[in-house]
Amino acid sequence: MKPNKIVGVGWNYRSHLGETHAQLPTEPIVFLKPTSAIIGDGDPIRIPAGVGRVDHEVELAVILGKKARGVSMDEALSHVSHLAVANDVTARDMQNKARDTGNPWAMAKGMDTFAPLSDPVPLDSVDDLQDLRLELKVNGVLRQKGRTSLMIFPVAELITHISRFMTLEAGDIIMTGTPEGIGPLLPGDEVVAKIDGVGTLRNPVV
Ligand code: MG
Repeated sequence: MKPNKIVGVGWNYRSHLGETHAQLPTEPIVFLKPTSAIIGDGDPIRIPAGVGRVDHEVELAVILGKKARGVSMDEALSHVSHLAVANDVTARDMQNKARDTGNPWAMAKGMDTFAPLSDPVPLDSVDDLQDLRLELKVNGVLRQKGRTSLMIFPVAELITHISRFMTLEAGDIIMTGTPEGIGPLLPGDEVVAKIDGVGTLRNPVV
C-alpha cells in the first residue's frame, strides 16, 4: 500500500521540548513530509553539501489501514493497520532559520532520504502501542531512548485531530514525534533505530 502522504507531528514528547526551545503545545503540531523522502532498512541517508547540521529523530510510525475522516477517539485506533520504526531526519540549521524568519520548514524535513522507514508490522504485533520502548544509537552509542507512554498527544488523539481537518487515506503514515536525545549525523555514521516489538531500522549516512 503506497502512502499518499506522511504526516509528521512536532514536539510530542515533553522531554524533547527543552532541546528545541519549543513551548508546550496545546494541540498537535502537524507538518508533511513528501513520500519521495522514504527509504528502507539498509538504504543510505544522504546529507547534501552545505545544509549544516542534520539530526536523527527516532519515531513510532503508524500506518492507516482505511480512510479516516472526522473519526472519534474511540474509533481512531481501528483505522491503524501497521506500525513501523521511522527516523524523521531533519536539517536542523535550515529548520531553525526558517522558524526564526517565520517561514515554512518543508525543505528541512523533506529532502530525499530523510524518511527512513522499517518494514511495517501488523498492529497486533504489539500489546499496547502506547507502551513501547524506543531507542536510537549512532555508531553503537545510545543517543535517544523513550517510551510511547510519554507522548503529549497519544496516537488516538493525533488521528482524531488530524482527521478533523485532513482526510487520512489507507497507506498514509503518521510519524508521531521524537523523544529527547536528538543529535547530529555525519557522513560515515551508522544509525540504528529500534522499537521493541516493531523492528529495527539501520541506515548508513553518506
Ligand atoms: Mg520529528
